[in-house]
Amino acid sequence: MAADVLAAVMLPGAIAVVLIIAAAVINARDVRRRDPVRRFTRQQRRAGMARAGGVCEMETGFGRRCSRAAEHGDHFYPWSKGGSTSLQNFVAACGRCNCAKGARIPSPGQQLRLERRRRTYVPLDAAVAVGERQPLP
Ligand SMILES: [Zn+2]
Repeated sequence: MAADVLAAVMLPGAIAVVLIIAAAVINARDVRRRDPVRRFTRQQRRAGMARAGGVCEMETGFGRRCSRAAEHGDHFYPWSKGGSTSLQNFVAACGRCNCAKGARIPSPGQQLRLERRRRTYVPLDAAVAVGERQPLP
């Protein structure tokens, strides 16, 4: 009886410990990967906002582009998870989209759709790539 109870508690406990250790290892790697510069420069902000035409670049429903005015410069790949503070990782966002996104890593599909949308409003010779990350030290 006591052995059954112990066995029932041990497995979830062991799984929880493994998950906690894995999360700590992943977090430590993210911290080492962080760009020493967090804030975009004035030039990066100006260039990024001009590229977006002053309109939010995030997606609303069905992969469509948000139509609100851009107020924030957002790290598409979150800075806290190793995203670079570069024009390539800069996304113009309205306050609502930026707050809704937070520090979540965008899915490969979201990245692909943003790059595809960018081709419709960025000059042909300009880069559309997004989501630059810092290399692991
Ligand atoms: Zn928006």
